[in-house]
Amino acid sequence: MDVEEFRTRGKEMVDYICQYMTNLDGYRVHPNVEPGYLKKLLPEEAPQQPEEWNNIMEDVEKKIMPGITHWQHPRFHAYFPSGNSYPSILGDMLSDAIGCIGFSWAASPACTELETIVMDWLGKAIGLPNDFITSAKGSRGGGVIQTSASECVLVSMLAARNQAIQYLKSKNPQVEDESAFLPKLVGYCSQEAHSCVEKAAKILLVKIRILEPDDDGSLGKETLIDAMKKDKANGLFPFFVSTILGSTSSCSFDNLQEIGPVCKSEPCTWLHVDAAYAGNAFICPELKPYLMGIEYADSFNTNPNKWLLVNFDCSCLWVRCRVRLTSALIVDPLYLQHANSDEAIDYRHWGIPLSRRFRSLKIWFVIRKYGLSGLQDYIRNHIKLAKYFASLVETDSRFEVVNNVRLGLVCFRLIAPDTVNQTLLATINASGQLHMIPSMVRGKYIIRFCVTAENAVQEDVEHAWRVIKEHASELLATNKK
Ligand code: PLP
Repeated sequence: MDVEEFRTRGKEMVDYICQYMTNLDGYRVHPNVEPGYLKKLLPEEAPQQPEEWNNIMEDVEKKIMPGITHWQHPRFHAYFPSGNSYPSILGDMLSDAIGCIGFSWAASPACTELETIVMDWLGKAIGLPNDFITSAKGSRGGGVIQTSASECVLVSMLAARNQAIQYLKSKNPQVEDESAFLPKLVGYCSQEAHSCVEKAAKILLVKIRILEPDDDGSLGKETLIDAMKKDKANGLFPFFVSTILGSTSSCSFDNLQEIGPVCKSEPCTWLHVDAAYAGNAFICPELKPYLMGIEYADSFNTNPNKWLLVNFDCSCLWVRCRVRLTSALIVDPLYLQHANSDEAIDYRHWGIPLSRRFRSLKIWFVIRKYGLSGLQDYIRNHIKLAKYFASLVETDSRFEVVNNVRLGLVCFRLIAPDTVNQTLLATINASGQLHMIPSMVRGKYIIRFCVTAENAVQEDVEHAWRVIKEHASELLATNKK
């Protein structure tokens, strides 16, 4: 493809995207295909000869689109939002065209410097303490963009593991092999924490205690203190606590104000805060109280690619002390060094991959095009609609809302056995009219309804509630027979 063909095809692609985005409700939200559907439609071997662009795009329409779950669809209420907006798409387009790989400042200075600036913008907008803001006076911390929240949790746990091993080594200098300390390390999170915490512990060969939260899904100090006490009595070393602000199953919040001091009373326990979804909402002044206790945290992550209109991938991690993060990760071959290494940031030391996309560009575009006020309006609209949906559910005595609806997620169920709720969700999803997913809250199977579409309106919520009620009535009537 030469530049002239790209110019033509690029404009066609923008038209294709515009018609896709504006006609989304013409598609089934969830595809009606069986595993292996695409294998039957595409050749087994890669084409030997170049193909016509029109033929490729025809296959997109006929073969790929029928297998797409449309995450931007107004009837998509599963998971959490998958951030998307035109300024963000344009940011990614430009990043792809520039095609720089910003592993060090020298590898593309603007790529590194814009990342530092937007991470400071966003960190300040969220209300993180100055210690997390690179440019703040006296700060030793800063922010970095990772691929996913799972990666943020993993590198935070890795830094914590390194810090704990250094501490134990300082107390036991006779131990030569540092891996001897690994079996002593134990981390903590609640059952409400995302499974990525358990996965990180698996990767890093450390123990993890998954603790029972209270009835509101919140982990408080008593449970944590008890667990730590038991472990310490058995010679273990509490090195890491991962708290959750806005859990995946029910958008519950751990009690940071209680957990923080517990971590600080230990000799060397890293406190991480995973706010992958909810953290974005803290740009609204009235939601900042959910962040109380953040002054105790060593690291914090949120995903603008979930709830801030930035396309995947874009997961932001801030640390209180960048050296504690980078000292777990620095490897410095000559071919990656440069003359400005001392004064400039090299983000290759802040994460696992060497190569990094120019992801700050899309955050920069989004923040500038919407302004913080536009982003706040977007968040507030989702919260308002979720509360409206919960109020509709509460008008029907056959149903109950089972979470405290603070943000854009409502967990609800028919007051009936789990199997009935399972069938209800399965039939709604199979109808292609809505897409939702289940979870467990306080041992009960629940259905999650999340407001996800950028321009969601009251009618979308009313439509969803109508579909749910109709399916419920049919199911209950059949069960009665
Ligand atoms: N943490 C929370 C609270 C989440 O809700 C999720 C995903 O939904 C994750 C972590 C994992 O996110 P990622 O897909 O970015 O790894």
